[in-house]
Amino acid sequence: MFESLQNGLKSALKTLQGKARLTESNMREGLKLVEQSLLEADVGLDVVRDFMGRVTEKAVGEKVLLALDPTQQVVGIVRDELITLLGGPAEPTIKLKAGLNIFMLCGLQGSGKTTTCGKLSTLLMKSKQSVMLCAADLQRPAAIEQLHIIGKQLGVPVFSKPGEQDPVKVCQEAVEEAKKKDVTVLILDTAGRLAIDEELMAQLKRIDNRVEPDQVFLVVDGMTGQDAVRSAGAFNDALELDGLIMTKLDGDTRGGALLSVRQVTGVPIKFIGTGEHLDALEPFRPEGMAGRILG
Ligand code: GDP
Repeated sequence: MFESLQNGLKSALKTLQGKARLTESNMREGLKLVEQSLLEADVGLDVVRDFMGRVTEKAVGEKVLLALDPTQQVVGIVRDELITLLGGPAEPTIKLKAGLNIFMLCGLQGSGKTTTCGKLSTLLMKSKQSVMLCAADLQRPAAIEQLHIIGKQLGVPVFSKPGEQDPVKVCQEAVEEAKKKDVTVLILDTAGRLAIDEELMAQLKRIDNRVEPDQVFLVVDGMTGQDAVRSAGAFNDALELDGLIMTKLDGDTRGGALLSVRQVTGVPIKFIGTGEHLDALEPFRPEGMAGRILG
């Protein structure tokens, strides 16, 4: 995960090491390399500019330059600013209310949405929740089949309604069924497309308005970099997302989407996908992630 970003940051910060005293120009050179490694990691230009502005303001000054351990101080500043960029020190995860909670998962085709329905079920079952899945992606019969396979694998009931054309109706019936069965979390697997289009957004808005999910999550593929950030922005304009789930970080050497998306969209990252397996989903913790990135 993020190997190229890690290596870039490590060698940038290394240039500051081993100097008894740092001059302002040493510091600025080192920070230039930090900036370069963020740009190479495909972090958005505005995000990098803001980030470097904050880091430079704190790092270039007598307090740091004359400190006994200036390099450690710079690493600390970069770490703190990374945590802020990722959403702050104590990003809350999901709070469940008593009774039925409805989660709606949206995302482009291939982002990992259906797999993530299974991964979320796994996490929720570990905390003793009673989960049900709803196959509301009526565009692709294969998606319904895939959800049934995942449900069977996990022992989670899957609601689907063969022949029904209206996803709102499928979701509404799933809600009734979930209430009857004392389910505590119902996860709606909605339709995806290869690209964002108006019909898809209209359908998702209709489900959002009529079914009133407690949490609307967007699943985005971290490996698609700035495209993931752009699609998160577009989905958030249409749906007011409660959170993002960023998948495929196990295959992402750069981390540009992860580092940009919170600042660009304002939507918190709630979970990250780190593999194809149904237990490869982690609640997102900015502090832990900043530590992982800095190695
Ligand atoms: P959907 O079209 O959005 O429902 O996407 P799928 O759930 O079918 O996932 C598309 C592909 O991405 C599948 O091959 C998944 O196994 C894979 N996938 C999903 N999440 C992850 C992840 O976090 N890491 C990796 N490496 N693969 C993932």
